[in-house]
Amino acid sequence: MNPLAAKIIYVVGYWIANFVIRGPHIKARQQVRVRAKLNTRLDTSLFLVVGAGGFLVPLLYIFTPLLSFADYSSPLWIGVTGTGLLAAGDWVFWKTHKDLGKNWSPTLEIREGHTLITTGIYGRIRHPMYSSIWLLVIAQAMILPNYVAGFSGLAPFAFLYFQRVGKEERMMMEQFGSEYEQYMKRTGRLWPKLRPVPRP
Ligand code: SAH
Repeated sequence: MNPLAAKIIYVVGYWIANFVIRGPHIKARQQVRVRAKLNTRLDTSLFLVVGAGGFLVPLLYIFTPLLSFADYSSPLWIGVTGTGLLAAGDWVFWKTHKDLGKNWSPTLEIREGHTLITTGIYGRIRHPMYSSIWLLVIAQAMILPNYVAGFSGLAPFAFLYFQRVGKEERMMMEQFGSEYEQYMKRTGRLWPKLRPVPRP
């Protein structure tokens, strides 16, 4: 794909996810008190590194020649597929913020009046917001033809995801007990179960 087109597509897709979709939720959640916090320094640092890798490093690539040593050319179909994944990722990201509402947190915590959401996209998948971030960081790697700016979101997110998801499920189990256990049986982590287990 033409590098200029790739840059424009990436910035627009990333802007939509973080500023149009997530922005209002960051504001809204400031008003909801936190009841229990489980996030570690590693978790918070990784969250910040994913943000920097998803936005600041691509901005360096787009607006300065600093990363040009890592440029490569990629076939058009890779950029086009990445654009499709970016659009899908933005849609799932929007849907998860809508369905999770005030229960959303950037880190692991339980809020005042926290409810377990098991409807909407959460009816079939336990971690659809993480599914959407996987889509967004894979899209970044496919759209930006630069080894550093392309992979600067994927590498830290993979690390964040694998060290967080188990802890998050244990936290939810402690909070919601057998309700969460039942919920785990009928949902997939990132992708719906092929043979869905019906609700009791
Ligand atoms: N892992 C989920 C949510 C990410 S936001 C996803 O990928 O869609 C992280 C916060 O969401 C956690 O701190 C937890 O408090 C909350 N959370 C996770 N699953 C939830 C659910 N089913 N219902 C309500 N809150 C949930």
